[in-house]
Amino acid sequence: MPNLLLDSHAHLDHSDFDADRDAVIMRARAAGLQYLLSIGGGDGPDHMDEALSIAKRYEWIYATVGVHPHEARQAEDRHFDMLRSAVGDPKVVAIGEIGLDYHYDHSPRDVQKRVLIRQLELAREVKLPIVIHCREAWSDLRQIIGEHWARAGFGGFLHCFSGSREDAVAFLDWGFLLSFAGNLTFKKAEPLRAVAREVPVDRLLSETDSPYLAPAPYRGKRNEPAYVLEVTRELASLHNLSEEDMGRQAVANFARLFRLE
Ligand SMILES: [Zn+2]
Ligand SMILES: [Zn+2]
Repeated sequence: MPNLLLDSHAHLDHSDFDADRDAVIMRARAAGLQYLLSIGGGDGPDHMDEALSIAKRYEWIYATVGVHPHEARQAEDRHFDMLRSAVGDPKVVAIGEIGLDYHYDHSPRDVQKRVLIRQLELAREVKLPIVIHCREAWSDLRQIIGEHWARAGFGGFLHCFSGSREDAVAFLDWGFLLSFAGNLTFKKAEPLRAVAREVPVDRLLSETDSPYLAPAPYRGKRNEPAYVLEVTRELASLHNLSEEDMGRQAVANFARLFRLE
């Protein structure tokens, strides 16, 4: 039985893949990927639909569009118009990645919050789930999601989850799924593994965040979607499942969230 794998978060539009993008995608498919979510955002809001152009070329790849918190300060009215027109494409399954990043603070925090809230309103209007990016901003994120999203019921997932057990419980209660990335495999990640162990298996997703954050044993190299096998293996061992069962479960969770087949 070949592996069935899921990569719920990859930046296929990144320039690191310019030289061999199709080969990377073919390797991912050969490794067993059933779905890949191509994250829009690119080099900034002007390029938010490049991930979608890639998804359109492959039947098994889907896309998101959104303004990343890093680039929130570049967002203008016309970008929200771009967003609105891109979501009409059947390959766009979510608004993302959107959220708050207080680790890098590439955009002022009040601007990050404003751009997040505006995209939550848009997602509610078009009835799409969201893909959240959050770094060191959990209390503000929980406050905003509670106020502007939780009751909408369109759900979504937290990508590269790095929060505490309490954060995990809050988002699980709101119906979110939690996606784990290569940092789960790092030696020092025992606290994160402890959280991942407690997430019900039907609420877990696996991702690479390619080209960033390569899992062990590829740490420090360019990451690519095929390496999601390492994340799947880690989740499997935390949940005492076989790699095959964990992969199949992540694929099923993704299909359920986005109502695919
Ligand atoms: Zn992110
Ligand atoms: Zn990302």
